[in-house]
Amino acid sequence: MYQSFIGLEVHIHLLTKTKVFCNCRSAFGDEPNTNVCPVCMGYPGVLPSLNIEAMRMGCTVARALGCSIPEKTWFERKQYFYPDMPKNYQISQFASPLGQQGSVEIEGAANGRPFKKTVRIKECHLEEDAGKMIHTGTVSLLDYNRAGVSLLEIVTEPDMETGEEAEVFIQQLRRMVRYLGVCDGNMEEGSLRADANVSINFPGKGLGKKVEIKNLNSSRFVRLGLNYEIARQSEFMDAGKTVVQETRLWNENRDQTESMRKKENAHDYRYFPEPDLPIFAPDSAFLKTVDDSLVELPAARMKRFRDEYGLNPEQADLICEEMEEADYFEAAAAAAVSRGITKKDAASRIANFLLIDIKRMLHREGLSPSSLASFALTPQRLASLVVLLSQGRVSTKNARQAMEAAAAEGRDPADIIREKGWELITDPEAIAGAVTAVLAAEESIAAELRSIAADTGKEKRRRTLTAYLLGKVLAATGGRADTKIAADRIAEALGTRE
Ligand code: ADP
Ligand code: ZN
Ligand code: MG
Repeated sequence: MYQSFIGLEVHIHLLTKTKVFCNCRSAFGDEPNTNVCPVCMGYPGVLPSLNIEAMRMGCTVARALGCSIPEKTWFERKQYFYPDMPKNYQISQFASPLGQQGSVEIEGAANGRPFKKTVRIKECHLEEDAGKMIHTGTVSLLDYNRAGVSLLEIVTEPDMETGEEAEVFIQQLRRMVRYLGVCDGNMEEGSLRADANVSINFPGKGLGKKVEIKNLNSSRFVRLGLNYEIARQSEFMDAGKTVVQETRLWNENRDQTESMRKKENAHDYRYFPEPDLPIFAPDSAFLKTVDDSLVELPAARMKRFRDEYGLNPEQADLICEEMEEADYFEAAAAAAVSRGITKKDAASRIANFLLIDIKRMLHREGLSPSSLASFALTPQRLASLVVLLSQGRVSTKNARQAMEAAAAEGRDPADIIREKGWELITDPEAIAGAVTAVLAAEESIAAELRSIAADTGKEKRRRTLTAYLLGKVLAATGGRADTKIAADRIAEALGTRE
């Protein structure tokens, strides 16, 4: 077997309102070439100026990835010819990127085997995106709306070994940047793009010849592309051939990687410091804005949900997928706890409603969990339902119906339960009355039960008859008698209690 090495280069579009070095709107679904100016069109003689918001967002991600922010960070020109880059250089960072040497923990499973490992982050750097080429027939058109849009590149060390690990890395990073509010994480639309580098070698021999895979626009493709490439390279090595260093493209229609260009190590971008942008030395006020934007990250929140609320790992993972869902969960739990039920009881009931019933309702309306913040069944309303359930004052079936109605009508489910008369009868006197009436009406069955009360051989018969009587009591109360109290009463009256 060979040892494999995977390093990722992830680009994320930062959600800044304007571009990174000019004041054009950062929106690229618009009419082509409408969000452009001489700076992002690369006219000669214009001066870029740094969008501080892009720097703040970049540094926030860097900190979330455990990177250090250097005392001085600056920009370089990365030079190459490309029609979607009219300046013929890209302003990027090289010698002192804004985030350096961090690490993150990834956790998941591959082929049924769980894994947990640390992935080192080499750096995070801020740069500008290029324009977009649109090829139509024999002509190519250029749209510069995307040129100059803030892009943060996150580069890992080659610490991953399987497609599954890389997939989990991307998923976790995506969740993290969404929590931080710096990127929408949409891979299909290219807001988060990953290039995957992979090599294999004989164990202990260090890194092999690297192949870079591009065009991976979903985390699933990252996994498939890498695993395909590891298998392809292994076959090469088995046959005694050497792998060529090259760039390959993922072909999603054929589920394979295909050669795009060879001789990748010949890059010479001739980086040199961008003379039109000053060195950026973060001061304490800037660093405070960075600290202030660091919310509790998904990994920490998931762990806390397990420890504090007793959720299982799968529940914690699902609820923490979207920050709005995690917030909803915590608001509902707090409201239920403030009304006297225990945290764990509240949490397990709320988690079940959230992951099954509420997800289904949202799905039916074509809504995503991120719209929970404006959902008609507010966390407080869900809490009032959970409190009634926990106190045994409503059946699960009626609770579900009340929840549906509450969501549709924007009301408190407790009010609906009261109006519909769905509250369970827990008053022992009332239940005793119903039991007495049923026993009188079902005289022969009551008599049989009394006669076999102590007969250990008649256990089954006893159960059948008891269930029958219980059904009658429930029917007599319109299904509202508390089942446990009713069963106790029947046993007491007939002497069948164990
Ligand atoms: P380049 O200069 O070609 O861009 P870098 O050193 O910047 O290469 O690395 C780019 C990415 O490729 C990083 O994520 C890094 O971890 C990964 N990488 C570098 N060398 C290898 C290798 N031999 N095998 C696998 N991944 C590699
Ligand atoms: Zn511009
Ligand atoms: Mg590189």
